[in-house]
Amino acid sequence: MNIALESRFAAELPELAVRWKAEDAPDPRLLVLNEPLARDLGLDPSWLSSPEGLALLVGTAVPADATPVAQGYAGHQFGNLVPRLGDGRALLLGELLDVSGGVRDLHLKGSGRTPFARGGDGLAAVGPMLREYVISEAMHALHIPTTRALAVVSTGRPVRRETVLPGAVLARVAASHVRVGSFQYAAMIAQAPGGDPDLLRRLADHAIARHHPAAAEADHRYLALFNAVIAAQADLVARWMLVGFIHGVMNTDNMTISGETIDYGPCAFMEAFDPATVYSSIDSWGRYAYGNQPAIALWNLARFAEALLPLFDEDTEKAVALAEASLGAFQGRYESAWSQGMRAKLGVPDAPAEVVDPLVGELLEQMKQSRVDHTSFYRRLGQAARGDAGPVRGEFVDLAAFDAWAGRWRALRPRADVMERVNPVYIPRNHLVEEALTAATDGDLGPVERLLEAVRSPFTERPGFERYAEPGAQEFAASFRTFCGT
Ligand code: AMP
Ligand code: MG
Repeated sequence: MNIALESRFAAELPELAVRWKAEDAPDPRLLVLNEPLARDLGLDPSWLSSPEGLALLVGTAVPADATPVAQGYAGHQFGNLVPRLGDGRALLLGELLDVSGGVRDLHLKGSGRTPFARGGDGLAAVGPMLREYVISEAMHALHIPTTRALAVVSTGRPVRRETVLPGAVLARVAASHVRVGSFQYAAMIAQAPGGDPDLLRRLADHAIARHHPAAAEADHRYLALFNAVIAAQADLVARWMLVGFIHGVMNTDNMTISGETIDYGPCAFMEAFDPATVYSSIDSWGRYAYGNQPAIALWNLARFAEALLPLFDEDTEKAVALAEASLGAFQGRYESAWSQGMRAKLGVPDAPAEVVDPLVGELLEQMKQSRVDHTSFYRRLGQAARGDAGPVRGEFVDLAAFDAWAGRWRALRPRADVMERVNPVYIPRNHLVEEALTAATDGDLGPVERLLEAVRSPFTERPGFERYAEPGAQEFAASFRTFCGT
């Protein structure tokens, strides 16, 4: 099969791209292939499963005119700037045109050391790559913008972590891999001796063309780009919050310009509602806790603004004033997306925000007090809208307070059909993800496939999937930890 891979990023932004090739994979075997996504990309699933297809999916044989590159970027990691991060174990193979003409990056993770690898081995283990596959599929099915997983191929190469694990490569598809950290890196190189002062503008123009083309028509295209990214990120984080998604490592290198969720490392879905929830083993201060995510997104956007300042205005003071005025719009945009989403979750999409917002605040306080499961609660509340309040009421310790709340909510005439369209039954629950990945690491892909079946149709309750709708045991939840970059 002849695959047309373009090299737009590599050609337009050579300073941010190092030509590189993947490490050999001694024994490539297909673990999972995303057939619907393959077809969206105009790729034949049976060809992708063939030896030539697998060689593409691990990067060892790419079309003759393709230019695989490791992308350079910087990043604030837990608040500290690392000027040179980049793809330590990933490669951009190039861009594909999907069947509707959209440009999509084809990218590999776990394909071997690159010049950005620092101390890392450049590899990835089967478990974490399947984790990204499962969770990104779940996010997509929940209508949350995300990079997609095309395939996971085991390489036959062992990876040394705490134990020796089977290695794998994830083939990932994204609107692009341009990040806030790409701009931070470009701003630094542009100013360095011998740097091209126009590099930042080239990157911004690339991002406008690919993600926010309307900005090209604006009076000030770079400010319009910034405003579009602010809006996309405010909407994205509101969607995360509505489903209880905790990204876990919202460093500036893990925030896209497209507004897609990227980098499923230590992410997890919250079970018992609590804004302080953190699962990542390295986030000891709770910087990236569930409830901090909107504030962190704004903090990252301020770092984006710092990189963009020279494009805003030659006069730094004026540039800063423009950036601040734009950043000021984040909170309102976020709150309105959140409030609109919560009204739908409560089945009262047309009720006025001034009435519903205080109800939401009180509900969340009660959920926190009673450690109510964030996902199953809204489905049970849907049953209450249909007249069966027993199951949801049983979740609360302070029954009088809940009854008072429910009376006010019912007075708004909630619609169960609306609630069932937006409140998922199935999310990738932490204990089920762990169980599935453990089995896959031991060679049994059955549980991963079954979990995928559940989370790919998250809103449709089905017999046989009961355990996928229930939270894990309290003891599991209390000790559950996720890990970065594994
Ligand atoms: P992440 O936490 O996955 O966003 O990765 C942060 C940085 O560490 C990126 O520059 C990655 O390319 C790099 N990195 C993570 N794991 C490895 C690895 N095993 N080998 C080389 N680089 C890595
Ligand atoms: Mg990353």
